[in-house]
Amino acid sequence: MERIDGKEIAARVKEELATEIADRARKGKKIPHLAAVLVGNDPASETYVAAKVKACQAIGMKSTELRFPADINEEQLLEVVDRLNSDVDVDGYIVQLPLPRHLSEEKILSRIDPAKDVDGFHPLNAGKMLLGLPAHLPATPAGIVELLARHGVKTAGKHCVIVGRSNIVGTPLSVLMSRKNPRANCTVTLCHGGTTDLKRFTLQADILIVAIGSPRFITADMVKEGAIVVDVGVHRVPSTTTKSGYRLVGDVDFDNVAPRCSAITPVPGGVGPMTIVSLLRNTLQATTR
Ligand code: NAP
Repeated sequence: MERIDGKEIAARVKEELATEIADRARKGKKIPHLAAVLVGNDPASETYVAAKVKACQAIGMKSTELRFPADINEEQLLEVVDRLNSDVDVDGYIVQLPLPRHLSEEKILSRIDPAKDVDGFHPLNAGKMLLGLPAHLPATPAGIVELLARHGVKTAGKHCVIVGRSNIVGTPLSVLMSRKNPRANCTVTLCHGGTTDLKRFTLQADILIVAIGSPRFITADMVKEGAIVVDVGVHRVPSTTTKSGYRLVGDVDFDNVAPRCSAITPVPGGVGPMTIVSLLRNTLQATTR
């Protein structure tokens, strides 16, 4: 069994991006600038935004973190979005999800200038992705495609089973993995809460990608011998062996599933670092377009 090391692959991509940014600086071109909007004090969101800002710093990209209290109203947040849209120094920005319940994510995300929507969540970018037109691709699905390609996984002709149909992971990933190009060209099955007898499908997967948000849900009996497994899930579970009192696990029961696989992503250190790298790449692209 091989471990698909997202951390190591992400580090390599970051080096490439850092080289490109240094080259731009040498030529007197604009340094890419990513802004992140954080509403409230959700600990997971704070961690994600901090990791994104740190990654920008590491590759010489400018970053700005904009924090707002959880009780900001929709009008005020839309004004923030409008300001970022017209700020010529900001090349791309994200609004960290989830937002507090009283704010409509759909309304906020739709107001982002699609050219600056480096999370790739705007309907225009989603539509362009579907048609195969140039667009900011959603960060996690694009990161998974890159992770598989850079690990040397031959995807063409394989049966890729995706579990979970969210707008940010499963659904766009089903589009990207079925694309006619050497990094994809899979036959894709998309499973979800309405799938009856899930195991019947997961057992057919040459490549199994799981994004359901349920800790260690995929067990060894659901995975074909020799399959490649990508675990998108991230969960904090209590632990007596760590100082913090918790550890991270995915949607896959890693310890029991790994021995059956030809390759598998760990949690942490699998998909997560690649999501950040996609965001950085999209921001660089936004600067150069
Ligand atoms: P989500 O919006 O909650 O969607 C979950 C999807 O899984 C839904 O389509 C749901 O089906 C399906 N599902 C849930 N339970 C199922 C079951 N028992 N059998 C079959 N399908 C089931 O989730 P998400 O936003 O895609 O996130 C999924 C996980 O990935 C979370 O743990 C999240 O934290 C993690 N994540 C990680 C990254 C990263 O960078 N590492 C990025 C994004 C998300 P229905 O549609 O029928 O409800």
